[in-house]
Amino acid sequence: MKTIGLLGGMSWESTLSYYRLLNEGVKARLGGFHSARICLVSVDFAEIEAFQRDGDWQRAGQALATAARQVEAGGAQALVIATNTMHRVADDIEAAIGIPLLHIADATGEALDNDGVRRVGLLGTRFTMEQAFYRQRLEERFGIEVVVPDEAERVSLHEIIFDELVQGEINPASRARFVSIIDTLAARGVEGVILGCTEIAMLVEQQHTAMPLYDTTALHVEAALAFALGDG
Ligand code: GLU
Repeated sequence: MKTIGLLGGMSWESTLSYYRLLNEGVKARLGGFHSARICLVSVDFAEIEAFQRDGDWQRAGQALATAARQVEAGGAQALVIATNTMHRVADDIEAAIGIPLLHIADATGEALDNDGVRRVGLLGTRFTMEQAFYRQRLEERFGIEVVVPDEAERVSLHEIIFDELVQGEINPASRARFVSIIDTLAARGVEGVILGCTEIAMLVEQQHTAMPLYDTTALHVEAALAFALGDG
């Protein structure tokens, strides 16, 4: 089994999900007392969130490149950045390390492609929904058309993520808001919806909607397990 490098803390709530799912995945495959080999570096999210708010992607990239080098120095054989938003600076991070980066949008694109989804809705932070880095990768590498919610919906999703989910708060009214936005996307003809923020699955699960959901946390973990166990 290879060692998975986890760059976490963005937020630590979703890093917990990664840690649990990685270990559950190894146990399910290998059984017994097996657990995942993980090298985790967890950053202070206050610093990263300030860079995001200021639009200072250069300093965010530098901070995460430094943390990624620490992950590599700890013995990791591949890097998993446990957030969609900070893939905004994936190129800077990748350039700073000698181990492969398992990109979250590639794990998602492959799952969509396997299911034959050609038009997909994207939920996440405003950065992920509004900037090009995430959508473009899905469009260019996988030929998948990406539809985002309208502006008022994007604002409300972003607020729920930052005011509640990264604080570990689960609010049924916010779940209803997510589900109604998913319904609006369904009416716009999407065949699936990407939970493109690593905390969303804490709130919205497949049982809450008939729309096929693509949880980026779970898909990213599957890619890491395939790497670590050599079965994919
Ligand atoms: N974890 C989130 C994501 O997947 C949002 C927190 C952040 O801005 O990094 O985008």
